[in-house]
Amino acid sequence: MDGQNITLASALGDAKERYSQANPVSRAMHEKALKPLPGGNTRTTLHYDPFPLVIERGEGARVWDADGHGYADFIGEYTAGLYGHSHPTIRAALDKALDSGMVLCAPNAQEAELGQLICDRFPSVDQVRFTNSGTEANLMIVGAARHSTGRSKVMVFNGGYHGGVFFFATGTSPVNAPYPFVLGAYNDVDTTKALIDEHADDLAIVMLEPMMGTSGALPAQPEFLSMLRERTQHHGIVLSFDEVMTSRLAPGGAQQLYGVTPDMTAFGKYIGGGMTIGAFGGREDLMSLYDPRKPDALPHAGTFNNNVLTMTAGATGLREVYTPQVCEEHNARGDKLRDRLNDIAVKSETSAQVTGLGSMLGFHFARGDILSPSDAAKTPADARALFHIEMLNRGFYMGKGGLSSLSLPLTDLDFDAFANAYEQFLADYASVLN
Ligand code: PMP
Repeated sequence: MDGQNITLASALGDAKERYSQANPVSRAMHEKALKPLPGGNTRTTLHYDPFPLVIERGEGARVWDADGHGYADFIGEYTAGLYGHSHPTIRAALDKALDSGMVLCAPNAQEAELGQLICDRFPSVDQVRFTNSGTEANLMIVGAARHSTGRSKVMVFNGGYHGGVFFFATGTSPVNAPYPFVLGAYNDVDTTKALIDEHADDLAIVMLEPMMGTSGALPAQPEFLSMLRERTQHHGIVLSFDEVMTSRLAPGGAQQLYGVTPDMTAFGKYIGGGMTIGAFGGREDLMSLYDPRKPDALPHAGTFNNNVLTMTAGATGLREVYTPQVCEEHNARGDKLRDRLNDIAVKSETSAQVTGLGSMLGFHFARGDILSPSDAAKTPADARALFHIEMLNRGFYMGKGGLSSLSLPLTDLDFDAFANAYEQFLADYASVLN
């Protein structure tokens, strides 16, 4: 490509044009979906311009779109797709569960097994309860924290994301849960410490991801988490880690990696083996607020909380597939890939860099340290979009925000192909990615 006279905007326009030309069936399906669904969409994360690819089929770490193109899947369903598409062990367990019937409206063995597996694995989790989504898990945590402390305020972080009703990527959202939020500054020890001290009398909970996922795989600084643990303990505030994404980063989650034990933890995504899930767990005295044998128990309902398909897939995945050893190996592979991509980025002399931990990678096009969402926001929106559309054009399925989560079936050959495509992308667009 002749990179001399192009601008970022013209490069993006050209990439979108080629994308549109190559995907007429996806475009037609998007247009048809516009009538029943606002924007043709029922999950905002999956919308992008000019129209999103319709994916028809997946197998292992590959997906195929409606126009018949195959892709290596490097988004991995925003971490929920850890096992790839229809992992044979999980598939066999699901087939067996289907044979025993669904919607049984009773406790089942699988929920206790999945519960035990989670309690055994995550240091802070004495007990756990299941929900249908990570969003619900966070709602139940906040409810328990406000009830147990008798305080109202909820500290979250600028740029944070904890589900559709906990959206702080751009300030707050009108559809957020109506809590009095206090917005901390991620990885800013002094500012956040002062805010906690200022609001301590009213502050029920501090909630954060130990590595921000959606904002671009931004790991917490260890001293930031230690400060939060110390200050929350000092003031009797509940500290909750949202490990919906990050619990896959080590056998005991990011809390094990950092050696910081929160009071509560939210789970979701891969923990259901690819089926709908959320879960919240933590200290026994907080979890027991939900014990229905108590006359003053907090209600926690949910028709599908313990549905046999999710419970079966989740338990099978943790027991048989994502064992502690596999987890460690997988994240080591991710670290190696990130190092390799960063070497390529440095050699390209562009502003490209890759953040993250283990099997989660964040792609950025900005110079300097990227420690916070405001650092990540220095990547021009057009550069992010160009990378996304161009990687799609080159056969790598990715999300629009620059987050990649590696699934287990991705091979070393897939990593080689990805690294080559990344290098070529940076070479092609060096003049606009500086
Ligand atoms: N917390 C985090 C950190 C997430 O990334 C997400 C989903 N992307 C959620 C919570 C919400 O989970 P769910 O989509 O299952 O409601």
